[in-house]
Amino acid sequence: MGNSVGYWDSCSGCTDSVDGYISHRLFPIHPKHHVHVGSGCDECKGKGIVFHPFTKADAKAFEEWAREECKR
Ligand SMILES: [Zn+2]
Repeated sequence: MGNSVGYWDSCSGCTDSVDGYISHRLFPIHPKHHVHVGSGCDECKGKGIVFHPFTKADAKAFEEWAREECKR
């Protein structure tokens, strides 16, 4: 155990987005995480991308939420 599970995403602090879509021309794609790399800011410690932890508890909570949604 102890593996950090989650996903990398573009940093909202240093990537310009228009209506939620990041301009592909302005920011390079990260070769490993396949997300746009921003110019770097305090939010991402200059990396341009941020890590969103996704725990088993989160997965379970989402599963239960989805199940409740289906009942409606
Ligand atoms: Zn940033």
